Amino acid sequence: MSVTAQSVWDNCLSFIKDNIQPQAYKTWFEPIKPVKLTNKALSIQVPSKFFYEWLEEHYVKLLKVALVKELGNTARLVYIIKMENTYGNKKPFTEKIPSANRSNVKAQEIDVPIKNKSPELKNPFIIPGIRNVKIESQLNPNYNFDNFLEGDSNRLARSAGMAVANKPGGTSFNPLLIFGGVGLGKTHIAHAIGVEIKDKYPEKTVLYISAEKFTQQYIESVKKNTRNDFIHFYQLIDVLIIDDVQFFSGKSGTQDVFFHIFNHLHQNGKQVILTSDKAPVDMQDIEQRLLSRFKWGLSAELQTPDFETRVSIVKNKLYRDGVEMPDDIVEYVAKNIKSNVRELEGAIISLIAQSSFNKKEVTIELAKQVVEKFVKNTKREVSIDYIQKVVSDYFQMDVSTLQSKTRKRHIVQARQLAMFFAKKFTKASLASIGSQIGKRDHATVLHACKTVDNLSSTDKQFRKYVEDLTKKLSL
Ligand code: ADP
Ligand code: MG
Repeated sequence: MSVTAQSVWDNCLSFIKDNIQPQAYKTWFEPIKPVKLTNKALSIQVPSKFFYEWLEEHYVKLLKVALVKELGNTARLVYIIKMENTYGNKKPFTEKIPSANRSNVKAQEIDVPIKNKSPELKNPFIIPGIRNVKIESQLNPNYNFDNFLEGDSNRLARSAGMAVANKPGGTSFNPLLIFGGVGLGKTHIAHAIGVEIKDKYPEKTVLYISAEKFTQQYIESVKKNTRNDFIHFYQLIDVLIIDDVQFFSGKSGTQDVFFHIFNHLHQNGKQVILTSDKAPVDMQDIEQRLLSRFKWGLSAELQTPDFETRVSIVKNKLYRDGVEMPDDIVEYVAKNIKSNVRELEGAIISLIAQSSFNKKEVTIELAKQVVEKFVKNTKREVSIDYIQKVVSDYFQMDVSTLQSKTRKRHIVQARQLAMFFAKKFTKASLASIGSQIGKRDHATVLHACKTVDNLSSTDKQFRKYVEDLTKKLSL
């Protein structure tokens, strides 16, 4: 029987399969393709550099044992990384890894500490006049990995975050982009990474900042003619964490300056961590060149936690607060509040508060009341797509008709209503709303909002439309 790459790999796989968890096997080994076998060197193709690093980090021993078993002591493993090349050429990049001496590979790490050479550096965090070049990290120590509970919904993001914290700038997760809906833990993880890095590498300059604050600082710097100082300041950071980058959408000046800062940091092996409420493909009004940078590293999604994870989050919170609560009540709350963790915590807090104010036992009855109020009061996030769908359905037209260029009055009105509700019910900017509703500009959206306001105070029929749609959209 002839020995082929496939046969060697198949044997390795059956050995590996017996030695690890089925889920891990499925995630990390099934996607691998054996490519060729030459002189005891087996080439395997992995989907990304992330994958390769993960294998090296977690499964190198196992791989080695399996391979030596098949090919003897001189066995070697060659990874072929099938990846989107960061510099635009599509050649797969390959790396030879002698299995006996893997530590060579780790030489890819770049870690160039930049010394603060400019004494009169303008730090946008510092009130002018107070001399202080030390950069405060703005981290919240209460958000750490210890109290960020792991579950299927966050495993990838959490472990990628920890990998980055272990070797900031030294993994291929650069940038690391954590995305997911509201209240799912993006800000928590972002801080946790920073806190962990500060703990492991106290000498590194870590900075956490919201995209909103970054934008304000930038605008301020333009006003004061200190744009260069602003850029210079950010280029000195070792680990830059920017929360909620969707806020950059439609803000081309800020995007431009961030692009330059990002490139500088990335080229110097500095770590960038970003969070966003959307995946890069769904981000609106973010320049292509920035989006492509976001895709250089790893995008990890935070999903809504499953029931078990919700229960353990609640229990952990109660434990930390020193509060006892019967299991059936914890489970009742966790079962009924599913959409996000912030709401879950909110419901538990109000339950504790209610029971202590009224000196009542925490009972299932009380839990029901609280949960009911909670679920009703928390507005569901509506998307612009959903708004367009509801408005088109209401006027019995297709979404494409609503978006079309026609000037027919009833279609124009439907479109204006969609814009009006998008402004009212989402956080999207006028420019972003315009581009999503038939590729219009921000002035058109502004005009639409004014028109709807006017018409609903002068035209009875039109007011009815607004009321009906408001009801439908707030259900
Ligand atoms: P986001 O930034 O995604 O809107 P946050 O990071 O503010 O969400 O999280 C909302 C709340 O939920 C925070 O109090 C956070 O500590 C908590 N939380 C989210 N996920 C977890 C988790 N896996 N374990 C413990 N607490 C969590
Ligand atoms: Mg947040």
